[in-house]
Formats: sequence, structure tokens, C-alpha cells
Amino acid sequence: MTAHYEVRGDVAVITLDNPPVNGLGLSTRQAIAQGLDRAHDDAAVRAIVITGAGKAFSGGADIKEFGSPKAYQDPNLLSLILTLDHARKPVVAAVHSVCMGGGLELALGAHYRIAAPGTKVALPEVKLGLIPGAGGTQRLPRVLGVEPALNMIVSGEPVNAELLAQLPGQKLFDKIAASADTLLDEALALAREAAERHAQGAPLPRVRDLPCKHPQAEAYFQFARNMVGAQAKHYPAPLKCIDAVQAATTKPFDEGLAQERQTFLNLMTDPVSIALRHVFMAERAAGKIADVPEDAPLREVRSLAIIGAGTMGSGIAINFLNIGLPVTLLETKQEALDRGVAHIRSVYEGQVKKGKLKPEQAEQRLALLRTTLSYDDIRDADMVIEAVFEDIEVKRQVFERLDAVMKPGAILATNTSTLDVNKIASFTKRPQDVVGTHFFSPANVMKLLEVVRGAATAKDVLATVMALGKKIKKTCVVSGVCDGFIGNRMIEQYSRQAGFLLEEGCTPEQVDKAIEKFGFAMGPFRMGDLAGNDVGWYIRKRRYVEKPHMRYSKVADRLCEMGRFGQKTGAGWYDYAPGKRDAIPSAVVNQMIEEYRKELGITPRKISDEEIVQRLVFALVNEGAHILEEKIAARASDIDMVYLTGYGFPVWRGGPMHYAEQYGLFNVMQAMKRFALNPHDDAQFWQPAPLIQRLVAEGKGFAAA
Ligand code: NAD
Repeated sequence: MTAHYEVRGDVAVITLDNPPVNGLGLSTRQAIAQGLDRAHDDAAVRAIVITGAGKAFSGGADIKEFGSPKAYQDPNLLSLILTLDHARKPVVAAVHSVCMGGGLELALGAHYRIAAPGTKVALPEVKLGLIPGAGGTQRLPRVLGVEPALNMIVSGEPVNAELLAQLPGQKLFDKIAASADTLLDEALALAREAAERHAQGAPLPRVRDLPCKHPQAEAYFQFARNMVGAQAKHYPAPLKCIDAVQAATTKPFDEGLAQERQTFLNLMTDPVSIALRHVFMAERAAGKIADVPEDAPLREVRSLAIIGAGTMGSGIAINFLNIGLPVTLLETKQEALDRGVAHIRSVYEGQVKKGKLKPEQAEQRLALLRTTLSYDDIRDADMVIEAVFEDIEVKRQVFERLDAVMKPGAILATNTSTLDVNKIASFTKRPQDVVGTHFFSPANVMKLLEVVRGAATAKDVLATVMALGKKIKKTCVVSGVCDGFIGNRMIEQYSRQAGFLLEEGCTPEQVDKAIEKFGFAMGPFRMGDLAGNDVGWYIRKRRYVEKPHMRYSKVADRLCEMGRFGQKTGAGWYDYAPGKRDAIPSAVVNQMIEEYRKELGITPRKISDEEIVQRLVFALVNEGAHILEEKIAARASDIDMVYLTGYGFPVWRGGPMHYAEQYGLFNVMQAMKRFALNPHDDAQFWQPAPLIQRLVAEGKGFAAA
């Protein structure tokens, strides 16, 4: 059973018990409905308490039921709350820990509410592109007042019950319990008092019967729309929240409820909400590794050493200092250590200046930082992360040294972005302890961490690194070993398309604008200027030797030969005014591109934004499908997470693989076949990945892969 029923004296207690957060799935709803019936049928029962077992009152809908018919099957949440509306005995909701979404809506259906201190209260539906669908938008304003309720509904953010209980005139909570331990006893007492009053003839107070008014409703809602509309751009739900709350102030309760329900159902099929729900599930799935159980034993990591205090090493260090882990930086020269420490210090100073961190916190974190030039000082570290130059010989020296000095069982991680992790592991006699931790720059800011699983990487090493990644608040995605891992291997195809588009007639600005309009944070050329065009140049030079059959546009090489490495040299694909970061279209670059086209004998053509976007995005998709097929990524949604958290893919589109699936894999395949006919493109690349062909033939989606 996912809810229990018991009678305590003259009060029935219904306890939700559906771990981890008492999600209101069908069986839980059925059990609650049965409990209510039993309580009404039992003449000895005078009142009812609804509460939750374990770590929550209720976190709301059961995510396992999302989008399935079970989510709507009766008793659905609305019918359950309607049953409460017609209850003939007083119902007290005793909430604690987490009271969110449907959980809060259920509590709002009760006659009385009592909360344990520290209860987090929220209607977070907006974060999934929805509005509350079981009366939340109609009942919360009636108990909290329009403005506080709308703030909660539009932001979806949790608020502490004690704070809400302090709002003047609020009727959300009748009482805050002294503690979580006394919650049930206090709820029972509240229920008995209510039963007594009811026996004397007092009506049962229902939230639906309360008035819902705002003194300057018109002006207030207009103001709210202006504020929210400006921020919500691609997201329809926040404005719909406002409409629904406004309906609570203008319409009879049942009409407002009907409007809310209809809006909720419409949003369920809205592409943005579908994408956001996909991302929600993808985030949860990313941490799971098929052959590593979730309760796998972990290695203890209480201290960390980082080899190389450059851009990445110093950024990586900040993550661990932030969670209170002592970090020792090791370098070959004192100047390099000084630079690294100065960088870390400046990041903390910046945060102090912005008021994000207290000065003493910054000092505490810096106090955990040590530096050294000697391996003797790191031999006892539980984990090492190597972030030295991207050169296999340098990596060899470092890993041979680590193998010689580190204590047995220490985790040896490499931050390499392009080198073979198996090869790096082979420099040691303990390849089982070697793993890739591919951070993104700036490492203290970017959410993504690709955890690279070598052929020999031990399961407990993998599990430990995933757990540690979670602690430093990264989105961890496991990648197998291949050139570029998941993210960079795909971005290479995207960049190649960007180059071909220039050859065929686009300007850098046109390409950037088109993909930014699609929703990318930054187009490929502005991105190149930011990251440094020399990075790609360096990789391409290696590619020309390793993969001579692969065609690259040479336009980017020409740019680098002109010394235009990007913002750091004051010029790249764009011009930059001294000290400014605004990209100004460059006549020099456009001239260079035109000349290059002439050399190739290409007559430029006008290329539509649609073609630009599709070539860039479907290049990611095709390579992503190969990656999935080769089992470099465990699931398509992992690839989506990589692109959402590491490459600025628009969240509201759900990631490249999700986008392709929504566009229709058949349509994607047709587009690829069209692109293959373009004589200036790479016909070989545009052969749809066998996985895509198979899924289209079988009428399936990536989840089936
Ligand atoms: P960097 O040049 O900024 O820093 C490298 C540091 O390593 C330098 O301070 C250097 O003095 C030090 N070093 C070199 N040899 C050493 C040795 N034998 N022992 C100790 N220290 C040594 O480079 P970076 O950008 O920080 O890159 C470091 C690693 O991270 C590379 O493998 C790179 O591919 C990878 N990476 C870089 C990025 C990025 O955007 N910069 C992103 C992901 C991964």
C-alpha cells in the first residue's frame, strides 16, 4: 500500500507512504480515497488527519506516471480534492519537510493545515512549463493573498512554512507545530478541537469559499504581465499562471478551476513543456550507470591534489574548495603556482564584491589551498586531477610519476579533452584507478562534467567520481573513450558545417544570428572568438594528419594565419573595439571569405536561416546517433544533457536529440539526404547514421535505442 490507514482514538490518520517523496501516483490516490471512505463510514471517527511518512508530506505528482493515462485515471487529484470539499468530517493536513505541487494542492483541499517547522512549500509546476492543475492557482491566492501566491506560482520556488505563516491575514496554516516530532500529536489535537466545534454546529471551513480580491487588480496584473513577459520570452507557462490567478479574482471558483484545468491540459502538449519535462527526467537519468548500482560502495575522498595550475587546474580547484575539501596544487614552476593562486583569489574577491560570499567564507576556502613543487607533498591525497598541457608525452611523465608516488587506491583523474584515456591509464600499473574528469571552461562556472570511463576504470572509481561531481553541483554524464568524448566530438561536425556555410555564401554574422535566433546562447563564430580560434586550428592541424580523408573548410585556418585568434588578440571573425566584447562584423574577414570562395570557384548563394539551423543542429544529431550506437553515451538524453549544460543549447528545446525526435526522425533523415546532395558539403557525413535509419524504419524514438 502506498498510504496507510489507522484510527487513533476518534481520529483517522491517513499516512501517504510512497517513497521517496510520497508522489501522488494512482495507487496512492486510491489508498487516500479508500481511507476517506473508511473514515466516513466509521461512526467512531470524528475527524481525519492526512500526513506523510518518511522524507516528505508529498512532493506532488508521481514522476513515473508523467504523461501516462494513469496520471489522469480516477481518482485523479482533482477528484480527490473534490471529495475533500464534500467531506462531512473535519480534515487536517499535517505537512512536513516537502509540501509541493499536488501535495500542496491536496493540503489546500483540507479544512485545516498544520506544518512542521522548516517545511518547504511550493507550486513548482511552472518549472516544467505547466501551471498547477488541481486548484493551486485558485486556492493559494485565497489563503495567502494574490501577490504572495502569484509570486510563488510564477517562480515555482519553495518558501519556508514559517515565513508564509507570518503573512498578515494568511489562512494557509492554522498552526506551525513546535517540531516535526510533535506534528502528529498537535494535528490530532487540532482535529479533535475542530470535531468539537463542528459538533456544535460550526460549518467546515473550505478554501474554495474564501473571497479572492486584490484592491488594484487591473493595474497589478498588468504590472505582473510586463515583468514576467519580459523574462519569460520562450516560455508560455509564466504568463498563463498570471491568467489563472487573475481568473481566481474575477470568476466564480468552479469557473476559475475549469480555466486552470484547461490551461494545464493545453500546456501538457506544448513543445516547451514537453522539452522541460524531458530535461527533468534526463537530469535524473544521467546519474545512473547500468552496471553500477546506486548504492555501490564509494572510495573516501577527503583531500585532493591537482597537477597543473593553469586555466583549468585553478578553476577545478575552486569547485572543491567550495565544498570544504583541502586542495594541493602542484606545478613545475613557482610562477605558475602564483598565477594559479592569484586567479583563485580573484574569483573569490569578485564573489565577495558582488555580495555572493562573505569575506570570512572566502578566507576559509582559501585556507584549504596548498601549493607545492614536489610530489612528496601530494602522495597521501585521496584523488588527483591532472590538468597539464594537452600533450601525450607530458601526460606520460605525470602519470608515471603519480603511479610511483600515490598511495594505493588513490583515484587518478585526467582532464584531457582530446587524448585517449586508456592510453593515459596504460602509463600506470593501476589502470583501474584512472578515469577522465572532463571539466568545461570556466571550470568553476560550467555545470557540465563528462566523466570518462576507461576500459579498465573500476566501478567504485566511477561511482565515487559521479558522487563527487554531484557534490560540487555538476551535471555528470558518463562518456566512453573516443576522440572528443560526447560533446567535442559532436561540436566538431557542427563547426565543420559552420565552415562550409561560409564557403557557400554566408557571413559569420548571418550564421551566428540564425542559430542564436534558434536559441543557442552564442553562434559558432562568436563562440570561436571567445574561446580562441587557435584552439580549433591546433586540433585541425592534427586532424589533417590523422584523418586526411575528412574535409574541413580552410577559411578558419586563413583567419588564424592572419593572427585573428579572437577577443584575446582584439580581432577574430569579428572586429572588437579596445577593451570591448561586442562583436562588430568585419569587412576584412568578409573580404577574405569572398576571395577564398573565388579560389574554390564557388558562386555564393543565398542560404536561408532554416538551412543554417538544420545543418548545424542535424550535424550534432547525426554524430550523436553514431555516439549512441557505439555506446559512447548510454542514452540519448545524456547527449541532450551534455549540450544543455556545456554548449548553450536552448533548454526550452530539450537538447539536440530531443529536438530531432520532436521534429520527427523521418523528417531529419530526409533533410540529411538533401544535404548529402550538396556538392560543397560532405556527402559521406550526411549518410544518416544506421541507428536513425533503423529507428525510422521501426517507427521508434531514441529511447528505444
Ligand atoms: P594551461 O596551459 O592553462 O595550463 C596548463 C598548466 O599545466 C600550466 O600552468 C603548466 O605550467 C602546467 N604544467 C605543464 N606541465 C606540467 C607538469 N609536467 N607538471 C605540472 N604542471 C605542468 O592549460 P589548460 O587550458 O588549463 O588545460 C589543461 C588541460 O585541460 C589540458 O589537458 C586541456 O586539454 C584540458 N582542457 C582544457 C579546456 C580549456 O577550455 N582550456 C577545457 C577542457 C579541458
